[in-house]
Formats: sequence, structure tokens, C-alpha cells
Amino acid sequence: MLSNKYGLVVGVANKRSISWAIAQAAAAAGARLALTYQSERLEENVRELAAKLEQPLVVPCDVTSDQQIADLAASIDREFGGLDFLVHGAAFAPPAELSSPFVQTSREGFRIALDVSAYSLVALTRAVVPLMERRGGGSVLTLTYLGSQRVFTNYNVMGVAKAALEASVRYLASDLGPRNIRVNAISAGPIKTLAAMGIAGFSNILQIYRDRAPLRRNVELGEVADTAVFLLGAGSRAITGEIVMVDAGFSVSGGI
Ligand code: NAP
Repeated sequence: MLSNKYGLVVGVANKRSISWAIAQAAAAAGARLALTYQSERLEENVRELAAKLEQPLVVPCDVTSDQQIADLAASIDREFGGLDFLVHGAAFAPPAELSSPFVQTSREGFRIALDVSAYSLVALTRAVVPLMERRGGGSVLTLTYLGSQRVFTNYNVMGVAKAALEASVRYLASDLGPRNIRVNAISAGPIKTLAAMGIAGFSNILQIYRDRAPLRRNVELGEVADTAVFLLGAGSRAITGEIVMVDAGFSVSGGI
């Protein structure tokens, strides 16, 4: 489904990362990939994982740095000469913001959460637009959570960031549609990853999904990755600006 396609995947921290599951599925579907790491601390992890892919490009990128984003785009340009898809799986909020009441959210915590988790989609997308245009269009995919619309204990400022991220998906889709660049999000059910474990009481959320989702279970990494491959490839060529729920149906439930 993705043969002869070049993709960039941002947000691989370790083997449990949703972005890594997507990278593996995209590679299995035939894509050649660039992966990024945020800091030297994680470089080795990402390089070890990338070694399992065919001819990977591994590049540093802290998404809060415009310079690093520009350097990343330049590396992809040199190596691939264009880009067909971007997977954006970066998110962060200072830990203190995910364990105290939302009303206590600090100005700095709010700024950081929105910068890393929402604005980075805009900045990365802008940087890769010329590379996608060279390939006749492209597909941008980000990852969000239902906490953008409903209150989940301790999700707090990350819910606000996800609301901004989802609105950004719609505005980017509108801007870039005329250039044949599509922008979508997957809203995944809860999955035990590094980022998720930073949310106090996360295992309660997992249990509530198991009890109440129509499918009576949690979602698996591979299920999110399969939907991602669909949204990155030609099968979804008329879909843009969408938030696709991959949550075992939880979001349709009335809560009783
Ligand atoms: P993860 O493995 O911890 O991935 C989060 C990634 O964001 C990490 O690679 C992290 O790198 C990166 N990141 C944070 N700050 C960054 C920065 N300044 N520059 C570049 N990268 C940065 O957790 P995940 O659950 O797979 O998260 C991936 C996406 O899925 C996130 O957007 C998350 O909100 C979303 N999501 C997760 C769930 C869930 O239940 N797990 C559900 C719905 C949506 P570092 O480790 O170096 O900080």
C-alpha cells in the first residue's frame, strides 16, 4: 500500500510507542522512513529500533526548535528528494500538570504542552509542504485522544492541547487541500506507553474502557497502526480534516 513512498515518523521513544508501531506497519507496507529522536538520551534507542527497517534515515529533532525542524527537512530533501507522508506522534506536558487539579495549571506548563503537542504539528507540516508538493501531494497524520472533548481525571492541560491539535488538523486540511496534501488524526483509545504512564491513574482509564467500550476491550498498537497505514495511503485519498476514532467504540457510549 505504501511502496515507493517516503515517510517521516516523529515521536518514537521506545518499542511501545504508537509511532513505532506505525513505523513498522508503514515499512511493512513498503515505505522508506526517516525517524527522529528528541535528544541524545534517546538517540541509541531510536537507532536500535531503526536498524530493523530498510535503509532508515535517523535525524535529531526537538519539535520546539524551528532550526532543528528546518535541518530535518533539509536532511530529508538530500536523502529522499521529497516526502509522501508525515506521522506526528510527539506530545508532552510537565508531569506536575498531569497530577494536580486543572485549575492549578501554570502559565509555563500550559505553554509547553501546547507548543510540543499542538503547535509542532503546524511547524512540521509547514516544513514538509515543499517536499510533499514535489511528490504531487501527501498525507499528514497526528495522534489525539478523546480528552480533547471530554474530561478525564488528570489528563488536564493535555486535553486542552489535544483540542488545539484537532482544530489545527482542520485548519491545515483546509489550507493544504488545494495542494493535494491531506491532514487527519487518529483518536486512539488508551494504550500503555511511556507518555500514558505519566498520567496519574492511567490504569483506571484502561479498566473503564474494558468495562464500557462496545467491544469490551482496549485497543492494541497494531490496530492503530493498521488505521494509520490506511490514512497514509491512497485508500483514504478523499479523506481529510478528519478525527478517526480507533477506540473499541468507547466514544459512542453514553457512559451508563
Ligand atoms: P510515547 O511513546 O511516550 O511517545 C511520545 C513521543 O513524544 C516521545 O517519542 C517523546 O520523546 C516525544 N516528544 C516529547 N517532547 C518532544 C519534543 N520536544 N520534541 C520531539 N519529540 C518529543 O507515547 P505514545 O503514547 O506513543 O504517544 C504518541 C502520541 O499518541 C501522543 O501524541 C499521545 O498523546 C498520543 N496518544 C496516546 C494515547 C495513549 O494512550 N498512549 C492515546 C491517544 C493518543 P521523549 O520521550 O524524548 O520525550
